[in-house]
Amino acid sequence: MTENVTEEPTERTLVLVKPDGVRRGLSGEILRRIEAKGYVLRAVQLLDATTDVLHRHYAEHEGKPFFEPLVEFMMSGPVLAAVVEGEDVIKGFRSLAGATNPTEAAPGTIRGDLGRDWGLKVQQNLVHGSDSPESAAREIGLWFPGLA
Ligand code: UDP
Repeated sequence: MTENVTEEPTERTLVLVKPDGVRRGLSGEILRRIEAKGYVLRAVQLLDATTDVLHRHYAEHEGKPFFEPLVEFMMSGPVLAAVVEGEDVIKGFRSLAGATNPTEAAPGTIRGDLGRDWGLKVQQNLVHGSDSPESAAREIGLWFPGLA
């Protein structure tokens, strides 16, 4: 009798620790929360984001009032980019991250526990996580062009 072994379905998402998170020394704490949840880090790199990558990454927001300040903020220091893997990880990481506005983000989430409003033009909310499988594939290609 052969065992019916099915491959565990996995999903990948692109996580960024934004410059505020790196600057505040929270990269380790954020990666710790991702791993403690049971997700797997497939690739991690610290880099200075280019204007080209950021314009493509945030293309859907082009033209909005916070767009240029957002790109400027994302270039204000190094970014930690990670490919994170696990069942339903796209939705799961966004739950871990919490609401976009860190003031409104629930306690227990990364933004709720570690972020706040700094009275700036851009919400400095520590992390980015892809919002759909299509975005994840596009963003992983953008930040990790060499990854299979
Ligand atoms: N953002 C902002 N002001 C806004 C909306 C968004 O500064 O009114 C910034 C914020 O850093 C956010 C990013 O733009 O994380 C992308 O916005 P999105 O709505 O995609 O939020 P996310 O998916 O990151 O929660």
